[in-house]
Amino acid sequence: MNALIQPEIAYQAYPGLDAVRDQFPILQPQPRGAGESLVFLDSAASTQQPEAVIAASADYHRFHHANIHRGVYQLSQTATRLYEQARASVADFINAAEPAECLFTRGTTESINLVASTWGRANLKAGDEIILSMLEHHSNIVPWQLLAQATGAIIKVIPINDAGELLLDAYRQLLSSRTRLVAINHVSNALGTINPVQEIIAEAHAAGALALIDGAQWIAHGVTDVRAMNADFYTFSGHKLYGPTGIGVLYGKRWLLDAMPPYQGGGDMIEQVTFAETTYAGLPNKFEAGTPHISGAVGLAAAIEWVQSIGVEQIGAHEQALLHYATERLLQIPGLELKGTAQHKSGVLSFVITDPPVSTLDVGTQLDLRSICVRTGHHCCQPLMAHLGIAGTARASLAVYNNRNDIDRLADALADIVERARRTATAKSDRGARKSDSNRDLPVEMPDRSMESVDVAYPAATADSPEAAADETADLFSLLPDWPMRHEYLIELGDKLPPMPEALKTDANYIRGCQSTVHMAVRRKPGSADIIEFLADSDANIVRGLIGLLQRIFSGQSASAILAFDVDAYFARIGLDRNLSLSRRNGLAAMIQRLRELARQSIG
Ligand code: PMP
Repeated sequence: MNALIQPEIAYQAYPGLDAVRDQFPILQPQPRGAGESLVFLDSAASTQQPEAVIAASADYHRFHHANIHRGVYQLSQTATRLYEQARASVADFINAAEPAECLFTRGTTESINLVASTWGRANLKAGDEIILSMLEHHSNIVPWQLLAQATGAIIKVIPINDAGELLLDAYRQLLSSRTRLVAINHVSNALGTINPVQEIIAEAHAAGALALIDGAQWIAHGVTDVRAMNADFYTFSGHKLYGPTGIGVLYGKRWLLDAMPPYQGGGDMIEQVTFAETTYAGLPNKFEAGTPHISGAVGLAAAIEWVQSIGVEQIGAHEQALLHYATERLLQIPGLELKGTAQHKSGVLSFVITDPPVSTLDVGTQLDLRSICVRTGHHCCQPLMAHLGIAGTARASLAVYNNRNDIDRLADALADIVERARRTATAKSDRGARKSDSNRDLPVEMPDRSMESVDVAYPAATADSPEAAADETADLFSLLPDWPMRHEYLIELGDKLPPMPEALKTDANYIRGCQSTVHMAVRRKPGSADIIEFLADSDANIVRGLIGLLQRIFSGQSASAILAFDVDAYFARIGLDRNLSLSRRNGLAAMIQRLRELARQSIG
């Protein structure tokens, strides 16, 4: 079996790896009986925090907390000093010319919005062009779209090749005297491509444009030197650099920041306020209205210090070795297809399982059952996913604390998932073959099966009311003590779903807001005024299970009973609210909304 393949792939662990890993409380082996230790492979979303960072934030709260820049008392001055020292640490880390060029924001998203709102609105006019790339995260697309809508500017997009690399010739052709800004990521969060930012910036400058680099996915993986790369703006988030959430940085060259209007108005960003006129503070305060995230800045400084104590080059080298090993292991899993094979890649492994098809949602959910955390979905890169012709991928992303054992557990689990899917697919096709064998004597001439004539069986009510059905399932759930057992029950429910004819899987029946593909056909029961019934289907087994649950509760029930039923309370009662991600619940919410719409219409 594939899970047993342990190839001898050269992999040289970072020598101090065990000591590094020991510093992350969340990654420590669980006490006996508390389950397997965590394999955390979603660091591109957020890295875990080492003890030093947790302690720095806690110490700040315990011993130094006060509002900054205002108090004459010692405590406030200490807090101010810590906050401004954090800014100096950031400047040193990215080699900014001075700390004042480093603005604290909530993160990359806010940093980009700040530039779009202030520099963009002050400088762009109709017909000006902004160049983005196909690899961008929504946070480096939508702010520019908002700006384009407000100013009449035009967005152009650098295309990519099959490996997920930017096509630089096409980029050069997009550049013109109309280009005012090139905004691209340093590393793609969805595919891991490392972009040649220095070259891209130089070309932008040669065309007379500015360059903003979204460094969210680079900052923790290699040396950042904003002056060497000559970036006009550079952005990153603390929570992808072993630091806290809610804190990030916008680096900007002083001459640009000085000329930009403020972002938000409020305390701390002013020089003088009268009702007639306000003058603004200098950098960096002009862009930091209100009380900032002081403990976040302190935590970020601790994270930077921690990263520097290992060396960001060391971290990058360790991740490269692991990426190489992981790539080799994943490529040995039949039916698994890697997305993103750029020559220069950071520690991101995006993949889909196509043979047999396993939805990425099921991959993520099944890995979670084995305490392995990966991200699934479109990764906030819907234009890229559309370009690749897929709804999403499963993504494993690496950090300094990952080791060979993490990759082995991932690869073994994936091989097992594929193997099980293959067995299920074979069993299903055997059952299908037996069925068609037993139909062998039927007349060859089959009746016309247009949509109207399909004799579709919609599920009838399973109890007298949704409440009664809910009580029954809740009783059942209470016998299933943990999520793995509940998950298994849902998968079994999904297996028993009444089939939804392909003819009903229309655009009108497509449900938005799900990570998987979901169709739902809701109707009033023929011959009845207010009985609602529905069929639905999904490519994800877990969603099929949830559909089965909804059918048990709602299908065949009266419109008024459906409207009166509190679904949220029910999900909380059976504990599913703890195990279902918001996006899946959004999909569920969309299904429930469809039911309710028809129920409302039926009541009039
Ligand atoms: N850009 C990229 C490339 C990212 O990966 C992310 C986070 N996934 C962001 C921007 C947004 O970062 P944040 O949510 O911290 O603002």
